[in-house]
Amino acid sequence: MKKFFNLCFEFEFYLKIAISCTIFQEIFYWLLHNIELNFLIQVLLYWLVSSVSFYSIGLFIEKVIKKNDTLKEKLTARVKKVKKQPFPCFTAKNIIIGEIRSFTAALIILYLVPEVNRGNSLLLNLGWFLMRIVAADFCFYVFHWLLHRKFLQKIHLKHHEFADSSSFVAGHKSLTEYIITTIADIWLIFIFGYDITQLCAWAIIGNAYNLEGHSSLSIFFISSDFHDLHHTCFKGNYGIQGFWDRVFNTLNPPTKKLGIMFPVASLKYTMKSSSDLD
Ligand SMILES: [Zn+2]
Ligand SMILES: [Zn+2]
Repeated sequence: MKKFFNLCFEFEFYLKIAISCTIFQEIFYWLLHNIELNFLIQVLLYWLVSSVSFYSIGLFIEKVIKKNDTLKEKLTARVKKVKKQPFPCFTAKNIIIGEIRSFTAALIILYLVPEVNRGNSLLLNLGWFLMRIVAADFCFYVFHWLLHRKFLQKIHLKHHEFADSSSFVAGHKSLTEYIITTIADIWLIFIFGYDITQLCAWAIIGNAYNLEGHSSLSIFFISSDFHDLHHTCFKGNYGIQGFWDRVFNTLNPPTKKLGIMFPVASLKYTMKSSSDLD
């Protein structure tokens, strides 16, 4: 019974991602479906949506939410305390390198992948995004697990310079790791093609859960200190969320917070506090 609820809990994350992506896809579809977008405009749009959402969500978490003591205390997910350390700083050089990376990635992805038009069917989009997040999580799990093996660790150490974490640690990684994690994120569209409205929606939500996952807060998508523990302990919790870690038995049990959108987390919480189920 407990195992079942734990899996539901992981699935809650997938559902939140799929529903949020579907909503954003509808918005992009509504804005763009009457406009002819050539290749270069699509590249620019995809790059701009990715970059603007990355900085604006990250700054919102760090400069608005964390500056409000009540909110910060209420939303903190981190349980295991770590020594404070300075976080990645914004230098013009870092920002320019980051933008060159993401523009080049957008250019290569859209050049190599065939374009498809999936329309705005809610059910079809929901199914697509659900499949994408489960597949992306699986692929990320496998690559991330490999990056923690001795012979590949060097590639991943830059991301682990921070035992504590803040939103922008999400983007703090070596070029090789950037390429590997981008492939893990997008490989499914190489098989099924890309729809620009889906791609933009995925970029925004991807940035949102990635930044939140590194912020030590539990705002909407992230319901535990799952990734905080990964940064603190340097082992276990290799997935985006705990589903594949449960499957492959590499879970470093996270401390769960009450869910915001669905009741599964609340159910789990109630059951845990009555502690009579195992
Ligand atoms: Zn790692
Ligand atoms: Zn991380």
